[in-house]
Amino acid sequence: MTQLDGKWVRDQILAELAPRVESVRAKGRPPGLAVVLAGHDPASDIYVRNKVKACQELGIHSEKLTPPADITQDALLAIIAGLNARPEIDGILVQMPLPKHLDERAVLLAIDPAKDVDGFHPFNVGNLVNGTPGPRPCTPSGVMEMLRRYQIPAAGKRAVVIGRSDIVGKPMAMMLLHAHATVTICHSRTSNLVEEASRADILVAAIGRPAFLRGDSIKPGATVIDVGINRVADRESAARCGKLAAFEKNGSAVVGDVHPDEVAHAGAYTPVPGGVGPLTIAMLMANTVAAAEARCSV
Ligand code: NDP
Repeated sequence: MTQLDGKWVRDQILAELAPRVESVRAKGRPPGLAVVLAGHDPASDIYVRNKVKACQELGIHSEKLTPPADITQDALLAIIAGLNARPEIDGILVQMPLPKHLDERAVLLAIDPAKDVDGFHPFNVGNLVNGTPGPRPCTPSGVMEMLRRYQIPAAGKRAVVIGRSDIVGKPMAMMLLHAHATVTICHSRTSNLVEEASRADILVAAIGRPAFLRGDSIKPGATVIDVGINRVADRESAARCGKLAAFEKNGSAVVGDVHPDEVAHAGAYTPVPGGVGPLTIAMLMANTVAAAEARCSV
């Protein structure tokens, strides 16, 4: 069984982006990304910090805007309008979830689709469905990079995606379809989940439940892509999820949606952590550089 190394893929992606960043810079300014973080969700703080750090390492100009949690809808929309209008900003990312009183959909719709580096704007969802170029959601496009760089073909394969969220499951299924896989999407109402999953040549788990999929869901030789990132903070759960050693060391453990001790018969597997996780930010950088290139050339 091959372990698919997300850091190896990430490093390749970033190394390939570096000269492209320089080319944009040579035309007058570096690519620019603005990240908007409303309020202080601790998990979001960490995500945003990591995104800003990745920009710094690659020479992308980044700005972090931190309006207070009680910002009004109109004030947040005004921030977005300001960023849409600024020529040195190529990408705008509004960190979700937003505080409850804000309308996430209206905020998403306010972002200029050309600067929508998350690929969540309905215009870009349409581009994905059509197969028209445009920014793609970062996590599933990272998965496609992983498959491509490990030379795992999707064409003609049976792919099963478990999860139908707008940010992972649905775009993942669409990308696999464009890559000519025969795609099944499963979700919480799927009645025969193990049976569906165990037919997959490429199994993508994007569920959000620690170690939920067991060995009987994995066809021998299948490629198993575990998108799940779940934190378990008690000893019993960590032991049940095969993460006791990590728990003993750190006081908590990160576990995917697939039970890590039941993948030995897979052909290839993305570990958690270290599999899909590192790719999301790399693809955000790729989307930002592509947006800058597109704007430089008009
Ligand atoms: P969501 O909660 O938005 O979606 C989860 C999906 O899983 C839903 O479609 C849900 O079905 C389905 N599901 C839930 N329980 C079951 C079940 N018992 N059987 C079958 N399907 C089920 O999560 P996300 O898509 O945002 O994230 C999924 C996982 O990926 C999480 O662990 C998240 O942390 C991780 N993630 C990782 C990223 C990375 O960078 N690697 C980036 C983004 C997410 P239904 O629609 O019917 O409710």
